[in-house]
Amino acid sequence: MRLIIMGPPGAGKGTQAAFIGEKFEIPAISTGDIFRANVADGTPLGVEAKRYMDAGEYVPDEVTNSMVRNRIAEPDAEPGFLLDGYPRTVAQVEELDQMVQDSGHRIDAVVVLTCDEEELIARLLQRAETDGRADDTEDVIRRRQEVYTEQTAPLIDVYRSRGVLQEVDGMGEVDEVTQRIFAALDSVSES
Ligand code: AMP
Repeated sequence: MRLIIMGPPGAGKGTQAAFIGEKFEIPAISTGDIFRANVADGTPLGVEAKRYMDAGEYVPDEVTNSMVRNRIAEPDAEPGFLLDGYPRTVAQVEELDQMVQDSGHRIDAVVVLTCDEEELIARLLQRAETDGRADDTEDVIRRRQEVYTEQTAPLIDVYRSRGVLQEVDGMGEVDEVTQRIFAALDSVSES
């Protein structure tokens, strides 16, 4: 399975990605996590990414695309993968299409988690208290929602028109959302 999980910041992508990866025995690859690891290690990639992340803006496509290309070429991603937080722009969709085609595969499903905006902000403010992420301040949270609406929400229609979109209600308990995702993906893996 080659899967994507999408949704606005705070929709629960990271939490759900871990469960999906486990169920399908594929790595859950989070571009945000890779960037944060690079920031923590002080690598040149981390230094570059941090400027954008701290402002709630997207890291430039060329940087993100080559990072993902390298990551999905690793042996553990050979049987499949779940991308969490990528693609986020139309240019990234095109680049990912190329990467997947080059290896003779296709994207099987795109799960999009839906959630109302006030709930998202509340969840992120809560996460700010527990995880202390540098980009979880209220201004940056709001900017990240705007950037998502402008640059990433249009991708939903792209994947819908390809017939691979699975819209899942992301509101409610974590377990309930996981069960909804599994039900949606079971229909894909059986077809
Ligand atoms: P996330 O953990 O997915 O919320 O990502 C945290 C931050 O990393 C984002 O706000 C962006 O600054 C950066 N980032 C993660 N994924 C991407 C991507 N696909 N394209 C550009 N920037 C990204």
